[in-house]
Amino acid sequence: MATKIDYYAVLNVERGAADGEIKKAYRRLAQQWHPDVNDDPAASARFTEINEAYQVLSDPERRQRYDLFGTAEPGGDPAAGFGGFADIFDAFFGGNAAGSRRGRPAGGSDLRYDLRISFEDAILGVEKEIDFPVYGRCETCSGSGAKPGTSPVTCPQCNGRGEVRAVRQTMLGQMVNVATCPQCRGDGTIVETPCETCKGEGRVERTRTLRVSIPPGIDEGHQIRLSNEGEVGRRGGPAGSLYVAVHVATHPTLKREGTELIYEATIGLAQAALGTRIEVPTIGGEEEVEIKPGTQPGTEIRLRGKGVPHLRRSGVRGDLHVIIDIGVPTHLSKAQREALHAYAAATDEPVSEDTSILGKVRDKLG
Ligand SMILES: [Zn+2]
Ligand SMILES: [Zn+2]
Repeated sequence: MATKIDYYAVLNVERGAADGEIKKAYRRLAQQWHPDVNDDPAASARFTEINEAYQVLSDPERRQRYDLFGTAEPGGDPAAGFGGFADIFDAFFGGNAAGSRRGRPAGGSDLRYDLRISFEDAILGVEKEIDFPVYGRCETCSGSGAKPGTSPVTCPQCNGRGEVRAVRQTMLGQMVNVATCPQCRGDGTIVETPCETCKGEGRVERTRTLRVSIPPGIDEGHQIRLSNEGEVGRRGGPAGSLYVAVHVATHPTLKREGTELIYEATIGLAQAALGTRIEVPTIGGEEEVEIKPGTQPGTEIRLRGKGVPHLRRSGVRGDLHVIIDIGVPTHLSKAQREALHAYAAATDEPVSEDTSILGKVRDKLG
């Protein structure tokens, strides 16, 4: 089955392109057209085509056959020769970075620390000291895992590659399965005489103390990432990250919505009608706020800049919203009842008499 696809055109290289050029072109195109990163509906087909072209042009024998006969296979589908995942891995991380899976110790785990802070600290920012157990580098062997005076040796099973490949013939052609070397667990080397402190792991558990700076404006559920502060890997592998997950306590009277603070103030009927001044809690302390005569329930008074600092835009701060509710009294003294009856009479509002026993007792007591 001869193919009509021009592999050189697919990779956008000259017919005489050197191997390095082909590899470079493939990496760039594969990154660009990988269906995980490219939303174009054609991306998947394009990606397959790019891989197909690379599989043929990167193999000297198949490339020569393609150049001569216009097909890479003696009667086969060129796509069938797809060379396995390691090549895609190469394309994404570059030959060197892929070494993290080839003969280099794996990185350490990320850690999560749950930090509880007060409502005020979340708004103003704070420094906190935290302690946590973590795998750190073994000082005795400097992380190598080998007893001082000895060195790790190349793993005999994978010859230092850190991975083993199994080539299989399938109906679709050759499949290459790549797995982490079981003997060295991907390190590429093995320790023959382990360090006594760490038993060859190259790391030991200890308690670490860190000062964490919490920026103003942080909110419940936010995480602060401290790279390289997680666990170090086995045998000198790079450290993971520490994620500090922030939990913010609630405030007795203030509510928070992002950068906005909300305070619900209940005032009396007379205060709403005649106007007054009330104390409002803010992060910097109490603040006096004027209630104008004739204030309606649900009125919002905004204290500009008294909210929460914006986490990413310095100098930008939200507002404190005072929402006014009007409390209707449920228990009235005789004097209050008389005053309200007088008010009702003055405004021609028909009202009910309090005929309950409790009301009568109250009237008697005055
Ligand atoms: Zn050690
Ligand atoms: Zn190995």
